[in-house]
Amino acid sequence: DRIFKGTSKTREKLGVIEELFAYWNLEDADETLEELEDALIMSDFGPKTAFKIVDGIRDKVKTGQIKTGEQMRFELKTSIAGLLTSRGGSSELAIEGAKPAVLLVVGVNGGGKTTTIGKLAHKFSSGGAQVVLGAGDTFRAAAAEQLEEWARRSGAEIVRAANDKARPDTVLFQAVDTAVKLGADLVLCDTSGRLHTNWNLMDELAKCKRSIAKRLPEAPHEVLLVLDGTTGLNMLNQAKEFNETVQLSGIILTKLDGTARGGAVVSVVDELGVPVKFVGVGEGIEDLQPFNPESFVEALFP
Ligand code: GDP
Repeated sequence: DRIFKGTSKTREKLGVIEELFAYWNLEDADETLEELEDALIMSDFGPKTAFKIVDGIRDKVKTGQIKTGEQMRFELKTSIAGLLTSRGGSSELAIEGAKPAVLLVVGVNGGGKTTTIGKLAHKFSSGGAQVVLGAGDTFRAAAAEQLEEWARRSGAEIVRAANDKARPDTVLFQAVDTAVKLGADLVLCDTSGRLHTNWNLMDELAKCKRSIAKRLPEAPHEVLLVLDGTTGLNMLNQAKEFNETVQLSGIILTKLDGTARGGAVVSVVDELGVPVKFVGVGEGIEDLQPFNPESFVEALFP
């Protein structure tokens, strides 16, 4: 089972927590809870979320609902799964009834954006949908070629920049326009993720979003942030910035097959209230799975 093999980096640190549970007794509850909070923060959970989780457990210790380390462990898992579920809302794509449905995919370079678009294209094409890819990353020379290859493999259409000077928002406008004219089912919009001082990525993304809506007022139906699962708590700051600019509707967490650090995503979901919709578990076209909070937590605390 390859799923979340890779929450391993976090899991290593969570070993400390397992020890806390093993040796816990009611007399030193306060001290253990403080250590638990520290251990969660060390495991990329972020102080706010760690505090919230531990506070909930503390209440249950006080009211006598938790008396053993095993019960505390159970409560920790339930509470994390709960945060991932309730704060995040639905993990289904909100594309029912939209034709075409437009997904705007954002994220910093190297996170797995293009690969994820390829996987999504394959998933929906194999289900019988007609898919159009919009090559909105006009700044990275190889990006459009890479996307072209995914289009070929998945049987999707692709709309690329007509020339060197074409702007990303223009390309995405054309992609949606093409999909409307074809009567296609889904448009997957790739974007640039280059962080550069002389160039404002966020302004550019906001423009892309507006340009899509100019062609199809109800679009984009989803704005998905691709986050590299190996980046630790840094992903929280990234996610906040993207959310402020383009109002995220979902997260796709990649590279969970590697040495991922899954703890941070709990904070992203908790603080932004944006659900994880898919996880990437490899470089192959089939390596995309719907997110399941319970299996995610199970991988952290097997
Ligand atoms: P982009 O710059 O965000 O478009 O990132 P790419 O899609 O080019 O991906 C960057 C690298 O990460 C590539 O080598 C991908 O094969 C790899 N990658 C993407 N998703 C995953 C994943 O879920 N697991 C693993 N192991 N590698 C991935």
